[in-house]
Amino acid sequence: MNHDDLRHWSKRAADWAHHYHATLRDRPVRAQTTPGATAAELPDAPPEAPEPMETIFADFERIVPDAMTHWQHPRFFAYFPANAAPASMLAEQLANAIAAQCMLWQTSPAATEIEEVMVRWLRDALGLAPRFTGTIHDSATTATLSAVLTMREQALDWQGNAEGLSALPRLRLYASAQTHSSVDKAARIAGIGQANLVKVATDDSLSMDPGALDRAIAQDRDAGLVPAGVILCVGGTSVGGTDRIAESIAVAKRHALPVHVDAAWAGSAMICPEFRPLWEGVDGADSIVFNPHKWLGPQFDCAVQFLADPKPQVRTLGLRPDYLETLGHDAPTDFNEWTVPLGRRFRALKLWFTLRAYGLDGLRTRIRTHVAWARELAEEIAAIPGLEIVTPPMLSLFSFAAGDDAATRALLQRVNDDGRVYLTQTTHRGRFVVRVQVGQFDTTRDDVMTVAQVLRDLL
Ligand SMILES: *Cc1c(COP(=O)(O)O)cnc(C)c1O
Repeated sequence: MNHDDLRHWSKRAADWAHHYHATLRDRPVRAQTTPGATAAELPDAPPEAPEPMETIFADFERIVPDAMTHWQHPRFFAYFPANAAPASMLAEQLANAIAAQCMLWQTSPAATEIEEVMVRWLRDALGLAPRFTGTIHDSATTATLSAVLTMREQALDWQGNAEGLSALPRLRLYASAQTHSSVDKAARIAGIGQANLVKVATDDSLSMDPGALDRAIAQDRDAGLVPAGVILCVGGTSVGGTDRIAESIAVAKRHALPVHVDAAWAGSAMICPEFRPLWEGVDGADSIVFNPHKWLGPQFDCAVQFLADPKPQVRTLGLRPDYLETLGHDAPTDFNEWTVPLGRRFRALKLWFTLRAYGLDGLRTRIRTHVAWARELAEEIAAIPGLEIVTPPMLSLFSFAAGDDAATRALLQRVNDDGRVYLTQTTHRGRFVVRVQVGQFDTTRDDVMTVAQVLRDLL
């Protein structure tokens, strides 16, 4: 296989992709396979001799698509979306062809500079203050880890990086019980420890109680512990729990603590001004993450972290050994110093293509219709005897149940075995509930209303 063959096979792959996307509605959304079935199709060892691409491609078509859950299926209502707009796919093909390591400005000047401009475009599109700069990570998990590592080092005056944590005081982080498990993971990896991530009580509206936050910080200080930072949540993964951002930031600032806001899913909706009251006051944060790769259109991986001041994070994560020095230029931005990994993909290109190919207005219309259809579907489901809405739509996410946990669980199983739509579950206040989110890029009103039809058929 050489570059001339690649040209031929790229066209074959493009034709395959077109057919795949055109016929997605004929496929069950969730993979209808069993553990081990795919592995059993593969030989135990790689071939010693080259195989023809014809055979490899045929095996791909035979083995892979039927054993995948189809995230780009227009009736994917599970988890959160992982959209891949066609314009983003095209950009990824081009980034794939160049295959650069975008770790330094010098290794990838266009990637670095387009990344800087895309972060600015998105900052303005989300209505954030012009003081924010930022970078693109692979995932919200990495962005939150970067923020937490920075909180740790600020609290320890950068002694953690220098000496390790063993002789240093115990740090504390604060977040609501609705925050994503990536915050727990960050506390673990950062060496702060999960026991030092204080999960502050939430109220009936699923917001962290700012008064309880205030008391938790004060108590820890009195006990000789060292508060390091607060992580707030806008649109929690379970059922969309959202903290009162302005009030919580005011509490953190009173205690001189940095704040990271996780809006991984909901952040995309902030291109619509009418949803911005949900994170009123967010300009006071030190760090904000949102995943364009969820709802906006650019495909995984694309997590944007906005930073009020990048210097503490760069001081925490940046290393510049001799072999990474840029000679002959007065150091422009080297984005590896803002993130955990050294090597980086050219992620800004798909943002550039997506924002231009659909325009902010086209993207706003998609998000608005998703929110409207989710509300309509929730009303439809509420009207089905035997079903009840448990958490009302937060943007385009809501949950429902069918009587007791066993009945809800059995119904969910039937829905996903049926395959016309795909839904997943969570636990809300001890109760097993089915989540529904509307956000797939190509979904239509008919696709969304199919959920109600499937539920009526299978109840
Ligand atoms: C999806 C999600 C994450 C994790 O996102 P990754 O990019 O997969 O790491 C974190 N927080 C929230 C609120 C999410 O919805």
